[in-house]
Amino acid sequence: MIVVLKDNPDKRQLENLIAWLKSMGLDIHMSEGHSSTIMGLIGDTSEVDVDLINALEIVEAVKRVQEPYKNVNRKFHPDDSIIKIADDVEIGGGNFQVIAGPCSVESESQVCEVATRVKEAGAKLYRGGAFKPRTSPYAFQGMREEGIKLLLEAKKQSGLPIVTEAMDISHLPLFEDVDVIQVGARNMQNFELLKELGHLDKPILLKRGLSSTLQELLMSAEYIMAGGNEKVILCERGIRTFETATRNTLDLASIPLLKTMTHLPVIVDPSHATGIAHLVKPMAMAAAAAGADGLMIEVHNDPAKALCDGAQSLTPAAFADMMDAVNAILPHAFRG
Ligand code: PEP
Ligand code: MN
Repeated sequence: MIVVLKDNPDKRQLENLIAWLKSMGLDIHMSEGHSSTIMGLIGDTSEVDVDLINALEIVEAVKRVQEPYKNVNRKFHPDDSIIKIADDVEIGGGNFQVIAGPCSVESESQVCEVATRVKEAGAKLYRGGAFKPRTSPYAFQGMREEGIKLLLEAKKQSGLPIVTEAMDISHLPLFEDVDVIQVGARNMQNFELLKELGHLDKPILLKRGLSSTLQELLMSAEYIMAGGNEKVILCERGIRTFETATRNTLDLASIPLLKTMTHLPVIVDPSHATGIAHLVKPMAMAAAAAGADGLMIEVHNDPAKALCDGAQSLTPAAFADMMDAVNAILPHAFRG
């Protein structure tokens, strides 16, 4: 971090600043020029509050030259992280995996039928929402505890590990047998939830917030990792822009960019990114080509009757067709 001081800084205030920075374990390199003095802060500056220093009377400007995250930073972990799920699914480091299933768990027959179909098409993980974050309080809120039981039944029948969203710390005891806990876009900055997930020994699928920068996504992953849980998978799911023709705007460039910033696996959810079923296949292909470590796809046995997100859900047949297209691209995918 570099701190540029104003001309003729007050000596007392400068001494106080230096003492404070040193108390944080930093070394300071002073460089006095003709018109200004520059301080180079050497050491781990991730806990230094830039805004606080910027606000000091003697400070002209502050610039970070080092990222504020360390556990997720590729600089300190050059190799790709490979996250192991259940006994035999690995994601990251060249292992591409597809998570598929309905937006919401609706009934035992629905959840078990879709599980069998997506498994046949090559999905290695099964998704389904039991707790649903809905914009309207009058919309279907999910089957909650009963939904998790049905997902576990689908896991028993299909053998696929399950991924489902937790919205609140108080619900976590229900997630004991869930293989991957999803943090949805709306909860990406639920810091208390992230801290709690940091204490678990379970993979976490962290979705990018609707209006979050990549740095904010990485800082949320940092919360989980700082607690000791290193099993974090990132998910690009589209961001809110001025465009209304699609539900969100899929930020494809985030895939190769995130992979230079972090060693964590990055998957893409083209279903929520577009909101339109016929756009899911081309965007899944594009994500695979751009180097994603996997996909999350919404699949429903009868999309027209889905209780949630039917417009973006693929039928099992369309999902199988998408899988063929994605598999054909994988050998040519960008790998950095
Ligand atoms: C979901 O995956 O079911 C979901 C609600 O997605 P998001 O949090 O990305 O909107
Ligand atoms: Mn959905």
